[in-house]
Amino acid sequence: MSAYEHEVKALLSAAGVPVPRGVVVDDLDFDRAAELAEPLVLKAFGPGLVHKSDAGAVALGLSRKDLAARAADMRARLEVAGFLVEEQAEAGVELIVGLVRDPGFGPVLLTGLGGVWTEALRDTALRLCPISEEDARRMLASLRGSSILYGSRGGPPVDVDAVVKLLMTVGGPGGLWERLDLGEFELNPVIAGPSGVIAVDARHLPSPGPTAGASGAATDFLPLFEPKAVAVVGASTTRPNFGNMFLGFYRAAGVPLVAVHPTATEVAGVPAVPSLAGADVDYALVAVPAERCAEVVRQARGVPFVQVMSGGFAEVGRPDLEEELVQAARAAGTRLLGPNCMGVYSPRGRQTFVGGGLGPAGPVALISQSGGLAGEVIKVGERRGLAFSRVVTVGNSADVTPAELLRWLARDEETRAVGLYLEDPRDGRELFEALRDADLPVVLLVGGRSGQGQEAAASHTGGMVSDRRVWEAVAEQAGAVLVSGQDDLIGVLAYFQAHGSRDACGGVLVVGPSGGASVLAADAFDLAGVRLDPLPQEALEALRGLGVVASGNPLEVPVGPLGRAGLVPEVVSALLRHRPYGDVVLHVNVQAFFTYGDAAEPLYAYARAVAQAQAALPGTRITLVTRNGECAPPGVEDEVRRIAAAAGIPVYRSMEAAAVAVAAGGRYGVA
Ligand code: ADP
Ligand code: MG
Repeated sequence: MSAYEHEVKALLSAAGVPVPRGVVVDDLDFDRAAELAEPLVLKAFGPGLVHKSDAGAVALGLSRKDLAARAADMRARLEVAGFLVEEQAEAGVELIVGLVRDPGFGPVLLTGLGGVWTEALRDTALRLCPISEEDARRMLASLRGSSILYGSRGGPPVDVDAVVKLLMTVGGPGGLWERLDLGEFELNPVIAGPSGVIAVDARHLPSPGPTAGASGAATDFLPLFEPKAVAVVGASTTRPNFGNMFLGFYRAAGVPLVAVHPTATEVAGVPAVPSLAGADVDYALVAVPAERCAEVVRQARGVPFVQVMSGGFAEVGRPDLEEELVQAARAAGTRLLGPNCMGVYSPRGRQTFVGGGLGPAGPVALISQSGGLAGEVIKVGERRGLAFSRVVTVGNSADVTPAELLRWLARDEETRAVGLYLEDPRDGRELFEALRDADLPVVLLVGGRSGQGQEAAASHTGGMVSDRRVWEAVAEQAGAVLVSGQDDLIGVLAYFQAHGSRDACGGVLVVGPSGGASVLAADAFDLAGVRLDPLPQEALEALRGLGVVASGNPLEVPVGPLGRAGLVPEVVSALLRHRPYGDVVLHVNVQAFFTYGDAAEPLYAYARAVAQAQAALPGTRITLVTRNGECAPPGVEDEVRRIAAAAGIPVYRSMEAAAVAVAAGGRYGVA
């Protein structure tokens, strides 16, 4: 049952939030309003009165003598339980301050420009609770209309400190969000003026709905990624299936292997045992029909990790089977991955679920709710130079969750950056906290963010809290990089892999051929949120000595089949003597090398010169952009990539992709 406005206001007042002085009247005797200062506001309340103005249940600018007649009129039209008479606050800037419980992430605070324009303007900012004072200030500053708050067009600035204090009272540590049973809670409007704020409307709809609980003691996932031996359950002696395919992958990877089969003593050349109970392994992959999985898992006593590949559980409307599976895992004392997931990939541990052999071991980890996408990121990423420490697919996450894995990976010595592909984080709160606690770069790709706002019964706040905006807040507050597609996931991880350990300052310098490409480069970086600082005057003069008429940043320097391969590195070294840019993005038009020349050698010579420059500049992060790479004969781009990778330089095929990666590096503070 929702509380009436005056009840919520009493609670606010007790919490230190200013509200108008007022009295509640449940008949038509308004004598008690005598102590209030005019002008007055009359509001009717009753069980069906939610949006009062729409119902004609608010009257402003009244004197005491108007009250009785206006109240009688409301009573004649509406089902009224009583009236709130209150003093009318002076006009000011109207803000909305709201709380909702996001189904995944729990309490979320929203603020923005409010009053009657709230939904039309949709100028709001949101953060997960609890917010810090810094969060509160940044929320206000991020509003498109923030200049209204700080004083514009001759208007006085509002008391921003008082707004911040109110936001903290609602969404800060120990704030109302912790004490209210949160369905929805909304102050709209809060009127902000030069000397304070006042909440003139308040609404609270309680709703039961606890957030996901925390999991138990921390598990060591090392045996999952580096098992001493692996069992595959479900491979057939007569009709090859998924189990047989995995058996093949594992055999190729060379990990000690056993098959589980009810009758056979060997499956496809792999020795078989009748049940997991007799298998001395760290990891069992289960690929039998959903109805039989729980029975298999019950036998897994002594096996620390069981992965259920099979689908057919909650994702197809069989939560009962999934629950049975979880209970079976608990009973056996094993941790369950999935169900409905592909498995684990870890070259170091000879763990795999992809064909084509193991790639190189490296520093990049990936947690994915989609097995198919994880397979693509592994294969395409390795082609583009990524090297993985651990990849884990989680499927339905019935037991082991992304948050739990992230906490472990953040402390893993082999891992320097983590990619995360998620669709529905069942434990959003836990995940948020794990992201916040992780002090290595995390790159987030979220599927299904375009979903519309949640169903909201009565508040504007609910309708304005969409998945996309919550994820943006999560990334911002936790310091993770949110990307919008698989290419950028790989690209940003490649940047962290190459440059994650380089300690450099800030600032981005872009150097390459062609005026138009340079202009577009500036736009690409602008779109990614990176400012390209101009070159210092002395630097421009130094470049003249090298025969380069410098224009600015991006700096146009010819690069092509006829030019000197070492010119760009010389220009960069000369510039860095005057101003230490942390990132140097070098771009080249690959097409020119094959239109005005016919050999790859000049391009390789350029790549080698760039590689040498990186070796000579350990405090600078060089990134190479090979524009129009499709114009090169087959194999040429791979060779350029190889030369660059050996020097720890990431390579991108477009300026846009490079800009996203460099911006991510800067945001994470690799600098
Ligand atoms: P609704 O249920 O329609 O949101 P409100 O209580 O917010 O009703 O009142 C509608 C509008 O009237 C508010 O947006 C605000 O502009 C104005 N208002 C309401 N109460 C006061 C007050 N005490 N002082 C000044 N303005 C008020
Ligand atoms: Mg209102």
